[in-house]
Amino acid sequence: MISAADKTNEERILFDELELGEIALNLDDKDPQDVITWALETFGQRLAFVTSFQVDGMAILDMAYRLKPEIRVVTVDTGRLPPETYDFIEQVKNRYPKISLEIHTPDHNNLERIISKHGINLFRQDVPKRLLCCHVRKVLPLLRALNNVDAWVTGLRRDQWASRSNIRKCEIDHDHQGIVKVNPLADWMEDDVWDYVRSNDVPTHPLYAKGYTSIGCAPCTRPIKPGEDSRAGRWWWEKNAPKECGIHCPIETGGFEHEVHAILGDEHKNGQ
Ligand code: SF4
Repeated sequence: MISAADKTNEERILFDELELGEIALNLDDKDPQDVITWALETFGQRLAFVTSFQVDGMAILDMAYRLKPEIRVVTVDTGRLPPETYDFIEQVKNRYPKISLEIHTPDHNNLERIISKHGINLFRQDVPKRLLCCHVRKVLPLLRALNNVDAWVTGLRRDQWASRSNIRKCEIDHDHQGIVKVNPLADWMEDDVWDYVRSNDVPTHPLYAKGYTSIGCAPCTRPIKPGEDSRAGRWWWEKNAPKECGIHCPIETGGFEHEVHAILGDEHKNGQ
C-alpha cells in the first residue's frame, strides 16, 4: 500500500482483498470516529464523503469536520430532489463552511434519451425503468465523481435492509474500480445515529419532521406508515423489488441491462 503522504499524483492508494480484510477486522469494533480517522490518514484528499444529506451522512459529516474541516463532500443532484433538500444543502454549507462540496449532475444526453423514449416519469412504469432512471440520474454521476478518488465514505448501516446486513467497515468496492468503501456506521442502529445528532446539535433534513425516514427523490419517496420498515417509503409502489438504486449493490433486473445498453450504449460504463 502507498500512503497518502508519499504518493505522487499518478499513484493510486489501492489495497488488495487480504490487506483490507485484515484492516476491516481491526476496525470492526472501533468507533465511527476511529474509522474516519483511519480513512483520513490513509487517503488524505483522495477520500470523498458521499452523502445525500440524510441523518447518517450528516452524523458522519459532523464527525469528520471535527477531525479535519477541509474534507471533500460529494453529492449527486438527480434533478428530482425535493425543494427541502436544496434548502438543506445551503444550510449545511453555512454550518460547515470549510468543506469542499462537489455537486454532480446527470449527463444531459443520457437524460434526454431516456425521458424522450420512456417519458419524464418512466420510473412509474416498471422496475427496470425505475432502475434505468436511477442509473442515469444517480449511479452514473456517482461513478464519474468516484473516478478521481481512492476511497469513499458512506452512511450505510447493517440494520437498514437485508442487502446491507453483511457490510464491513471497510471493503473493496468492485462496482467502482476496486477503490475502498468505508462504512463507519456499519454496526450502529438507527437510534445511535439520532442520539449522536441530537447530542451534537447536528442539522437534520426538514422532511424527517414530516414522517420521512429515508429521503431520496421527491416522486419516489413518501413518509412511512406506523409499523413500516424505515425504507418502506422508497419506491413504495414496487412489489418484491430491492429498495436500492444500484449505487450500493448492482441490480440486474430482467431487461434492465438490455435497456441500459440499448439506450445509452457502451459509454455508460465509464460514467459518461
Ligand atoms: S429515485 Fe426515482 S426519480 Fe430519483 S433517480 Fe431513482 S427512479 Fe429516478
